[in-house]
Amino acid sequence: MRIETGVATDIGRVREGNEDSYLVEPPLFAVADGMGGHRGGEVASHLALETVEERARAEQGTLADQVRAANRAVYERSQQDREVTGMGTTLTAVKLVDGTLLLAHVGDSRAYLLRGGALRQLTDDHTLVNRMVKAGEITTDEADVHPHRNVLTRALGTEPEVQVDVSEVPLMDGDRALLCSDGLFGMVTEDQIQAILEVEPDPQKAAERLIRAANSAGGVDNITVVVLDAHEDGDEGADGVPTAGPSALGSPEGRRSLVRWGVGLGLGLLILVGAFFIARGYVDSQWYVGVANEHVAVYRGIPAAPLGFHLSHVEEQTDLLAADVQKLELYAGLSDGINAESREDAQAVVDQMRKDLQASQPQKGVGGP
Ligand code: MG
Repeated sequence: MRIETGVATDIGRVREGNEDSYLVEPPLFAVADGMGGHRGGEVASHLALETVEERARAEQGTLADQVRAANRAVYERSQQDREVTGMGTTLTAVKLVDGTLLLAHVGDSRAYLLRGGALRQLTDDHTLVNRMVKAGEITTDEADVHPHRNVLTRALGTEPEVQVDVSEVPLMDGDRALLCSDGLFGMVTEDQIQAILEVEPDPQKAAERLIRAANSAGGVDNITVVVLDAHEDGDEGADGVPTAGPSALGSPEGRRSLVRWGVGLGLGLLILVGAFFIARGYVDSQWYVGVANEHVAVYRGIPAAPLGFHLSHVEEQTDLLAADVQKLELYAGLSDGINAESREDAQAVVDQMRKDLQASQPQKGVGGP
């Protein structure tokens, strides 16, 4: 049995980093989706796959043993390094042994098998919603849009010990297996995934098309796919594909919550920025007459400084001394600002001040006999 491989990973269209990792080290293949903050997610998924690869190379234990070793490695690192405390990762690994695909799995990345026109999920999602589906509390359709659909019930590296799901599938000529992170099936339906896998014979192109489909659908998460084609033509070994990929980190609940927070923060910022520009437009349309450098001045904006931010600036400083003008009862409130409807209106206020001041000065001068 020969395996032909296609692999692709992408940051997606929303995230700032790629916390997914993949491993293509024939006959061993895996994807991992890290969580626990940006740095933690990268460290967790990368460290997990690195550990599996090392153990596999040294032929230490079974695939499940190697995944458990990865769990300890991630857990211990998260205990030692404050920067990555609480990190974890999913891990879905397969190994081809004598024509049989051995699977080891923790979390909600998935393995699928396309055979005879049917796409079958080989792994069980370790998620809260999947548990609810199995308990008959919600339907799979409801699970797909459930607000807590990203909450994991099991992850690698968050506890000292982890339970690893294992299974095996004897491969047949023409089988196509897919390993993927939730950035794929969270965006693209299984029907769409199947359609792409069926229509694109080249595994590398199929992998790339899946990534494009997820990005076209929004790409809200990192996307990683490994496509494995089984050929019964005796030629042992797999085609050369790059090994290690980028890595990730997070906490089971944390990661997805972080995404929602990210979206919330993004929207909040957008609203604030929008409000700022609307307010800015309003502020810029306002005028008043106030005091600048002890002189009467025309201001654009409003006479306020919330949180120390001045919402106005001087458009014109006049030669009228504020102290003189404020002696006139009408303008006593000058330092608080005298509102005007427009630049012309503000200028009219200043003109009136000048007249009133001139009118008051002769009286001063006319004093006594
Ligand atoms: Mg993900």
